[in-house]
Amino acid sequence: MPELPEVETVVRQLAEVLPGLTVGEVDVVQPDLLNRAPDSFRAPLVGSTIRAVTRRGKNIVLALSGPRILAVNLGMTGQLLFIPTEPGQDPKKTPVWPSHPGVLLHLGPTGALVYADVRRFGSLRLYSPEGWKKESARLGPEPLDPSLDGRAFWQALQRSRSPIRSWLLDQTRIAGIGNIYALEALFRAEIHPQAQARSLTKNRSERLLEGIRAVLSEAIAARGTTLRDYRTASGDSGGFGPSLLIYGREGEACPGCNTPIQRVVFANRSAFFCPSCQKGS
Ligand SMILES: [Zn+2]
Repeated sequence: MPELPEVETVVRQLAEVLPGLTVGEVDVVQPDLLNRAPDSFRAPLVGSTIRAVTRRGKNIVLALSGPRILAVNLGMTGQLLFIPTEPGQDPKKTPVWPSHPGVLLHLGPTGALVYADVRRFGSLRLYSPEGWKKESARLGPEPLDPSLDGRAFWQALQRSRSPIRSWLLDQTRIAGIGNIYALEALFRAEIHPQAQARSLTKNRSERLLEGIRAVLSEAIAARGTTLRDYRTASGDSGGFGPSLLIYGREGEACPGCNTPIQRVVFANRSAFFCPSCQKGS
């Protein structure tokens, strides 16, 4: 499932190619991906120019003239691909055309932007700037934002009754983290995934924030983790998978102490951890 590093990778690639391009036709193949009826999605987009591509949490945010905001969430299996075309070339006849197209934005003669999603848990939502501002305000702080300091992070943990892994996955508390990087960061900080968020000492919570920032930054540098479906905007797989220390490694030796890594399921999600290195309830 794409998390902050995967979304950031897509955003950085699209920010290189999309600004300045104008939306021509919009093909809606899967209307259930949209937050409004296809016609009221299509009409404001056609003829608008893409101004900027940024990220908020796990959302790819396209700022368009009008002004309008198009927020794309990849859900579990979404892909947002830029397909460069020659003048007159049909993007559907290129080798990179995906097998489950949902929405296609034609962007003049130079290319097309296609959203594809096998399981269709993702979304394309169109907002006014004010509407997006409200939506964005519902999300927690960005973990890589330097204005989030160790003290504010620890204080937020103190107010919670959740296990720390659940806290990290709650997008209204901190934005962009999913199961993979939550578990990797908890391993780095030697915290059990089921430990109560409010049980963490200030010191331990600072180590956790450092672990989150380190693993997210390293994963961005490797262009994300591909377990199955995630692709960059150019259709490539991410390279961080072999660098995962704990996720998906049940039964393998802990890289810190050689104890076999264990898996526990809670809140309907697997958690991988080292029973020797990671303490807590
Ligand atoms: Zn260990």
